[in-house]
Amino acid sequence: MVNSRDYDVVVNEGSVLIRDELLHVNLGITDGKISTISSNPLQGGQEINASERIVVPGVVDPHMHVWYGHEFENFTNATEGAAKGGVTTIIDMPLDKPFPPYTPELVQRKIEAGESQSYVDFGLFGGVSLEGGISGVEKILNTGIVGIKIFPKGVPREGFYKGLDAWEILQVFKLLQMKNLTAAVHPANADIDDKETKRLLAEGLIDPEFFDDSRPAISELESTASTLILAQKTGCRVNFCHMSFAEGVSLINDFKAKGVRIFAETCPHYLTLTRDDLKKDKRLRIHPPLRADEKDRLWQLLKEGKIDTIGSDHAPLPKDESKSIWEMFAGLGNTVEIMFPLMVSEGIYQHDLSLSQIIRVMSENPARIYGLFPRKGRIGVGSDADLIILQPGVDQRINANDLSYLGKKWSPWDGWNVKFKISQVLLRGRPIVREGKVVGNPGDGRFVSALC
Ligand SMILES: [Zn+2]
Repeated sequence: MVNSRDYDVVVNEGSVLIRDELLHVNLGITDGKISTISSNPLQGGQEINASERIVVPGVVDPHMHVWYGHEFENFTNATEGAAKGGVTTIIDMPLDKPFPPYTPELVQRKIEAGESQSYVDFGLFGGVSLEGGISGVEKILNTGIVGIKIFPKGVPREGFYKGLDAWEILQVFKLLQMKNLTAAVHPANADIDDKETKRLLAEGLIDPEFFDDSRPAISELESTASTLILAQKTGCRVNFCHMSFAEGVSLINDFKAKGVRIFAETCPHYLTLTRDDLKKDKRLRIHPPLRADEKDRLWQLLKEGKIDTIGSDHAPLPKDESKSIWEMFAGLGNTVEIMFPLMVSEGIYQHDLSLSQIIRVMSENPARIYGLFPRKGRIGVGSDADLIILQPGVDQRINANDLSYLGKKWSPWDGWNVKFKISQVLLRGRPIVREGKVVGNPGDGRFVSALC
């Protein structure tokens, strides 16, 4: 018989998602971890009644930008939105200012910033700077980073981030493979994109909808194909970021079937918005662009288990509406807060996916691919008690003004309906959100290192 005082927190009477099944069980939490899963109600220091609620593991967002060092977003604002949206772990991209984290000191500085400012737990990608080049990668492999974000040559337009040629990608893949870390690759071919952009502008095809054509399918596909070969030859684990075309995802799955350790990520916007939306609102510039008719194909691939992760690509850069789409910053405002309610609602009610299919790509898979599993990504004994307590079937309207981020509020999903309400979010057993209100604090989040 377990003494009730053995649990700091208990979650009773919920339908709990464990290994793809909703089970009527009760959770005992000790020191931030799930210590017991029982069919009998438990008693503890704090009791949460989850009757008529569904309990799922917290979301792991593998593609987040807190824009560390930039003025238009920060750890606190970005992760407040994450917490409200059920995201209990973010993996932050390295596009920091003035440098990506390419030395142990820069990684450490960012860890300290996150641990004092973040509402949720966080992992970090290392980056490749112009200053440090690929030799910088070797120096940060033991800092706990989950891997390296890679841009092909010519893709980063900003002056501080280095795009890599094929030889350089090969060297980074070899280093990551030795450490069992992961490459997150932005697949794009800058030659194709730049020349197509010039052609469109020269031909006067300047309306927002043509932005789609400036970064065409062949660019994403060519870059994916060449990177697949490098992944196959080195054995490096690679997640392809923000796949916007079904054809690229299918190519990745062809190679995966040969045993290559590669994965495909897409984002909520490629599943819910199209070129028609872009046509009506130039603020919907994002890289890669919204596409004409890929949405349903991507849902189908998701349903077939051929897309592995969903990343928010949260990037709330300011939108100067006096500028044309060709000069405007990319980004869709706050996507991290909307991502989970939108995906469960659209996935289950519009596209016939199961809750466990959605959770797999939003929690377990990203945790596995980036070395954070089983600490993150599941409800199981020994795992962190990162939980979302959901009230299903409740209509909620997305209101851009309620979203947490710096800058002028807007959202492509403003006014959309979602059918799940987040009742509570627990981070390592502690409630950080209750009925839409943040009850956690900046600095609650901890750095989570990849398990090498
Ligand atoms: Zn991104």
